[in-house]
Amino acid sequence: MPSQRRPLVAGNWKMNFDHLEATYFVQKLVWLLRDAHFDFKRCEVALFPSFTSLRSVQVLVEADKLKITYGAQSVSVTTQGAFTGDVSADMIAHLGCSYVIVGHSERRKYHPEDDANIVDQVRAVLAAGMQPILCVGESFEERRQGIELDFAVGQVRDVTRDLNDEQAAKLIVAYEPVWAIGTGMVATPQSAQDAAKAIRDDLGATFGQGVADAVRILYGGSVTSKNAAEMIAEPDVDGFLIGGAALDAEELCTIARLALKTSARK
Ligand code: PEP
Repeated sequence: MPSQRRPLVAGNWKMNFDHLEATYFVQKLVWLLRDAHFDFKRCEVALFPSFTSLRSVQVLVEADKLKITYGAQSVSVTTQGAFTGDVSADMIAHLGCSYVIVGHSERRKYHPEDDANIVDQVRAVLAAGMQPILCVGESFEERRQGIELDFAVGQVRDVTRDLNDEQAAKLIVAYEPVWAIGTGMVATPQSAQDAAKAIRDDLGATFGQGVADAVRILYGGSVTSKNAAEMIAEPDVDGFLIGGAALDAEELCTIARLALKTSARK
C-alpha cells in the first residue's frame, strides 16, 4: 500500500540569512516552485530561519497565502521569565510556526542541550501546539562500532518514553548521522532506510502501528539534488532535513521536485 505520509522537505538555514535575505529567498523559492507547478498537497516544503527572520517569513506567508510552512531551530524549555536570550515555545507558535527542530547535533555540541533538556524541549513544543522535528543519529565512532541503529533508536526512545500516543504521533524524526552533516559524506540509501525502519519499528512496538505509520522520518546529512531521489525512494524515508543545499533556492526547489516525483511512485 502506498505511504499516506506526505513527504517533507525541510530547509534548516542555521545561522545564515538576515531578514532581508530571508524575504528574498522565500519569494524566489516560491516563484520557482510555482513556475514548476509544484503540488504542495503531495509534498510539504518547510523553512527554518533564524529567530530574527521568523516574523518576516510569517508576514510573507500570510499576506500572499503561500503554501510553504516554517519553524524555528530551537526553543527554550521554560515558558517565561528571567531567561535572558531565550525564546519560548509560545512566542514561536504566535509567529505561525508549525515546527521546531529539537536536538540538532550542532545544538547538542555547542550548547548545554543534553537528553533531559531535549525531552523538555519536545514537551514545550507539543504543549504550544507545534510539532517537534527530533534530530537523532550516530557519530562516526558509534558507526565504527556497528551500533548506529541501536544508538538512533535509543535516542528516540529517551524522548518518547513519557509521551502518550497522541503526542508521539505528532513527532517528526530526522535521522541525521553526525558524520554526514555538512561533510559531503552522505549515508547510503540502504543505511538511511535501515535506520528509519528501525526507528519506525520501535515506535510501533511502543505506541502501536497507527503511530508508527503516522510519524514522518526524514534523512539529513549532505543531501543534494544528486542523491535525493534514490534516498527518498526508500519506503521509510519520508523526506529530508537539509542544511547546506537549502541555502540555494534553485537547489532546494530541485530537491523538492525530486522528492515529490519519486515518492509518488512509492
Ligand atoms: C543539517 O544541518 O541538519 C544538515 C543535514 O546539514 P547538511 O545538509 O549541510 O549536511
